[in-house]
Amino acid sequence: MAVIGIDLGTTNSLACVYMDGCTRLIPNAFGKVLTPSVVSAGEDGSIYVGAVAKERLVTHPEATAASFKRYMGTGMTFGLAGQKFTPQELSSFVLRQLKADAEHFLGEEVTEAVISVPAYFNDNQRYATKEAGELAGLRVERLVNEPSAAALTASRLGGREEGCFLVFDFGGGTLDVSVVDYFDNVIEIIAVSGDNHLGGDDFDESIARYFCNMHEISYEGLKAGERASLLQFAEKCKRDLSSLKEVTGTFELCGEKKMTLDNVRLAKLGQDLFDRMALVITRVLNDSGRTIEELDEIILVGGSSRMPAVGFFLQTVFGKNPHMAASPDEIVAMGAGIYAGIKERKEEIRDLVLTDICPFTLGTSVINYVNNKNPIMSPIIERNSILPSSKRGFYTNAGAYQEKVKIGIYQGEGYYCRDNVYLGEIELEIEGKRQGENKIEVCFTYDINGILIVEVTDLDRGIKKQMVLTNDSARMEEGELQQRLEELKAYKLAAPGDIRTKLALARGERLFVQLTGEKRKMAADVMGRLHEVISMQNDQKIANCLKDAEKVFDFLEGKSPRE
Ligand code: AMP
Repeated sequence: MAVIGIDLGTTNSLACVYMDGCTRLIPNAFGKVLTPSVVSAGEDGSIYVGAVAKERLVTHPEATAASFKRYMGTGMTFGLAGQKFTPQELSSFVLRQLKADAEHFLGEEVTEAVISVPAYFNDNQRYATKEAGELAGLRVERLVNEPSAAALTASRLGGREEGCFLVFDFGGGTLDVSVVDYFDNVIEIIAVSGDNHLGGDDFDESIARYFCNMHEISYEGLKAGERASLLQFAEKCKRDLSSLKEVTGTFELCGEKKMTLDNVRLAKLGQDLFDRMALVITRVLNDSGRTIEELDEIILVGGSSRMPAVGFFLQTVFGKNPHMAASPDEIVAMGAGIYAGIKERKEEIRDLVLTDICPFTLGTSVINYVNNKNPIMSPIIERNSILPSSKRGFYTNAGAYQEKVKIGIYQGEGYYCRDNVYLGEIELEIEGKRQGENKIEVCFTYDINGILIVEVTDLDRGIKKQMVLTNDSARMEEGELQQRLEELKAYKLAAPGDIRTKLALARGERLFVQLTGEKRKMAADVMGRLHEVISMQNDQKIANCLKDAEKVFDFLEGKSPRE
């Protein structure tokens, strides 16, 4: 049975399989390899994932969710047509769709997957991703860091097979920058850094706000559907700027209003976003101990790296041209596909060795003498340590004649523990001594599968206490997971049979909401014809009408027929 590799993206998701010595991206029902990571609850109770759901963001915002990857592992929920879903449950629908498309493509059942995650994801976010897989009926063989996957593909696609790469992965919602070495079949991540809340979506918002300012509209005051519509308009302007010097767009929702934008203006609008990118780059270079001169190649990954403003910014920072792959939004999925092939022990790639690092700091809490209710983080395993890693720290009693010490276990870079992720706590009884006289050793061992073993030793008496934290511990109980799995099964994915018709209807409905005047009338006429042929149930007529409808819709959206 095939193992598939999945790039579960903020904006789009892809699945890939390793077969006949190469990676094959798996097409969806529309023949496209990118499936928008959007989920919508249909009126008939079915769940739409992908292109149809994306159309419904405008027409049915209360039943549709997007960009939920940003909230993985946070405990936040999204309301869809009166039902609440966690980001991992919504992701499970996306995964279910990819699994179904893969099964259709391969002609066999798929039950195992390798899923890529931002290297910067913490334990909660990683666990949430695994949970999403399980809820979709997929055993998640391994989570791989997106930059490792990207480096693996890019080095094979690019001219250079070996070297030191800086992978700049700029997607819809996240930025991941990593320094990766690839020599003698060994891929080693040297350092990673990132920003989980910085992506192409932020540029869309900057453009949308610029538009609102220009026309004295309150961005905050827009209704959910209007905002989604304006963001789609902004995104289109942004994309057009990757091939055009200047774009002039008309947004029709609140009366015909125009906006002209060029790449210089876009760079200005995104100035604070570029400043944040620069911080991430500085940090990764510092952590890697590499200089700019030591980098053999800057590899651009992720849909947003297509923005000329981003390329120009990186050229200024590094003083060299970044390497833009032919399809930057497919690289991570292809890498995940290669990992899936390694899992299947495919002959040609069996010798590849992938080492990994701990993307965040693991540490313990120590007393804050200014405010003892707000303990301070004492790092034990520093971020970017090569895995497996085992490090120890030595501590003592903060108060005189303490009978026990509490060792809090935290993950993150914050100075105060409260700014980091709490993982657990060990309590150890100690002999009452004067302040600073007890000797306590804390040892952390962290392995490639995210298992952390914490061992606390009272060195005075040789007494040890141990705690094992897997990244599944203290999460959903097995029974709870099973129950939720059963509940989610009740939500059926929309049938693939008439999905093109559904997409055309959803698109027409959206255009009707967005347009006015003559153009709106054209959308309504097309919808009328579509309804008519659908009611006649004549497949040939429906197919012809769909073709015509798509042409008209493309025209109404100002798209060239090839887009
Ligand atoms: P990803 O998460 O890698 O799928 O990237 C999705 C992001 O890439 C979205 O914010 C898109 O708007 C953006 N994107 C895709 N194509 C382009 C393009 N040609 N120019 C600018 N941004 C793009």
